[in-house]
Parts: sequence; structure tokens; C-alpha cells
Amino acid sequence: MSDSSQRRIALVDVNSFFASCERVFDPKLMGKPVVVLSNNDGCVVARSSEAKALGVAMGVPWFKISAWAPSVGLVARSSNYELYGDLSARVMSILQEFSAAVEVYSIDEAFLELTGTPEELLATGHRIKEAIQTRLGLPVCVGIGRSKTQAKLANAGAKKSAGMNGVCNLDMFSAEKLDFIMAALPVDNLWGIARRLSKRLAAQGIHTIKDLRDADPVRIKKKFGVVVQRSVYELRGIDCIKLEGERLVKNQVMYSRSFATPVTTRKQMEEVLAVYAQRVSKRLRKQGSVAGALTCFAGTSRFANEPFHSPYVNAVFSIPTNDPVEILKASSSVLLNRIEEGRKYVRAGILLHDVSPKESHQYLDLFTPVHERRQLGETLDKVMEKHGAFSIGLGAAGFKSAREWEMKREMLSLRATTRWDELATVYAK
Ligand SMILES: [Mg+2]
Repeated sequence: MSDSSQRRIALVDVNSFFASCERVFDPKLMGKPVVVLSNNDGCVVARSSEAKALGVAMGVPWFKISAWAPSVGLVARSSNYELYGDLSARVMSILQEFSAAVEVYSIDEAFLELTGTPEELLATGHRIKEAIQTRLGLPVCVGIGRSKTQAKLANAGAKKSAGMNGVCNLDMFSAEKLDFIMAALPVDNLWGIARRLSKRLAAQGIHTIKDLRDADPVRIKKKFGVVVQRSVYELRGIDCIKLEGERLVKNQVMYSRSFATPVTTRKQMEEVLAVYAQRVSKRLRKQGSVAGALTCFAGTSRFANEPFHSPYVNAVFSIPTNDPVEILKASSSVLLNRIEEGRKYVRAGILLHDVSPKESHQYLDLFTPVHERRQLGETLDKVMEKHGAFSIGLGAAGFKSAREWEMKREMLSLRATTRWDELATVYAK
């Protein structure tokens, strides 16, 4: 490899991902302000750039702006996670064509390892952007740098400055120009630097990204710890945060939903938890991991007249597990006692912590719960795959019909890539 051909890291990020997915099968939304709502059509969870320009805030409850929306042409969609998840998988598989090392960082972002001269890398960035645009109809920006932190910074640059046409390679800038850019950006714009931390950094005279890059790493480690020290090195182009492959298991797995109609009894809540335990444990098994602890919670509405009530319980497993029975027991045993009959609960969730790959644990068979040895979870998954989601269930979840507390999604777009009966219709003139 010649000296000018270097290994670099690219960050590919879909612009306004949820809103862009909605536009793929509904081109009328192109150029219009679009928002996507949380489960049960509650709050705004994603905005197109046009919606941002209108001043629609993230998290604003839909009922507060729905009357105003038509006057400005604002369109809302229920969240269609099936569509987003499928399009996300397609983006990631296109990215695999460009690099053997792809780390899926979030639903719409991935880091890739690329090799080439600065000009070649810039050209590759444009090819990635065009491939995703023409094959999926999704707009992306590509940022390229010597480290993940630099790639994040480059991606932000590509998004902000229209002149770059969606791709920014930091290597294309002179040292002076790079200094100028970094000096213009406040330090809390940097990946991994929280606003809270930026106040403490300011007290040390570190205000901009350039200030942090040029700070003394030893002093930084003493004052702020190894994570911030790593940012200093990363900004200098020393790659410290390694790309994590497909085996990466994120540290938390959550299953949480709002109900279509409030849950008011312990018995109903027991059903909810049985279903959620099954679903969250399925996610764990799918990624081949186990959880060491969980938080289970339920909540009434924050917008109701009655006082807000949100009981929760934390539990630690003696042995990390993905067994639905263990997860259900840990979730319901204490939480159900804290549910007050007659109150209107509008959501519940199970959050698994300390998630790690299953094979990283070697424990004595003696400690494995009996149902786990019998692979109960896997069996449930298989039956549901074959006979549908309501065919089998644990305890209170084991009955057939859809439940009345399940989600309401009145403005749902077509799940056009995963359901035969919801394929998009094309009219030719
Ligand atoms: Mg994005």
C-alpha cells in the first residue's frame, strides 16, 4: 500500500431517517414538513428538515399542534417501525458492498472502514450516497476521517454545508482550514461531549473543539477521565475507538409501548407484562445475548388531571439470562403489587441492562433455570414464527385475540417492504 493510500473511517447517516422512510412510498411528502409520532400517536419523535424549520419541537405532544398543522401543511405519520427496520437493514446491506468492516451504530448510522487516497475516498463517499439514493430512495450524508470522532465531525459538516453535496472528507482540508473549522465549533458539538461536561471544560479554558484537540492529554485524563482523553487523541487523528463488528451487542434492550386504551387492573397489567417479557426476551435471543438485570415500569399519563403515577422495579439476575419465564417473574413479582387498581396506566416497559453475548458466560449447568435448559424461549419463538404472534404465550399472555390495550396507530403508512397486502401501488399515465 502506498503512503498516500490510507485506512480511514466513514460515518454514513441517513438524513431525517423516519421522515425520509415515509417519503419513499409516498412521494407527495417530498419537500413537505413531515413529523413521525411515537407509539399510540403521542408525541413527535422525528421531524423532516422542513418541520424543524417550522419550529416543531422534538417531543411535543401531537394533540397540541394537530389543529395548527393543516394551516402550515404539516403532515403526521404514525411510527411504522416495521418499515423503518426493514429499510435500515437494506441500507446496512448496501454498505457491506463497500467495506468488509461495517459497524451498525444505530438504526440509521454505520461506521465503515475504507481505504484509498483522499480523492478516492471522496469518490467512494459519493458512490455510497448515490447507491442508497437510487436503490432505496433515501438521502444520506457521508463523513470521512481518521477516527470515529473525526468521521462524526465530518458527517456534521456534510449535513450543514450544502456546497459539499453530502460528502465530507477531512483529509481534503489543509491544516489551517481544519484549525479554522474546529475553532468555530463549540466543544459540546463533539460526539460524546455532554453539555454538562462542556461547562467543566469551559472552566479549564476549553471552549471549542480545537481547544480540546490541543489540550494536554495527561491533564485531561486527570481532570475528566479516560473517555475525554480519548476524544483528544481521536481529534488528532489517532484512532482509539475501534470499530466493533456484527458481534457487538448493545448494552441495553428495551421493549416499551403505550396502550391504545388505558390498563386499569392488575390482571390486565399481568397480561401486558407477560407479553412484553416474551417480546423483550425474543430480542435478546435473536442477538444471542443475555441480560444481567432489568427495570420494569408502568406509568399513567403525564397530561391527565390525576397525579402522575409511575411504579417501577429493579432486579438483578443471579445468572445472566434470556429466559422469558425468569424475565417475567422478575418483572411482575414486585411491580404488580405496586399497581393501584382503578388508576389509568397508559404505558409499560421492560428495560434489560448489562446485556452481553451469551457465549461470554460459562456457568455451571447447576445454576441454569430448568425452563432455560428446556429451551422454552426458543420453542415459543418457533411456534410464533409458524402460527403467528397470538398463537402461544406465557401465563396470562396465552390467548388468541389481539388485546384491547395494544397500540393505536391511526396515521400508519404502508409496511410496503415487509407485507404482501400492503405493497405500494404505482399508477402509470
Ligand atoms: Mg440520521
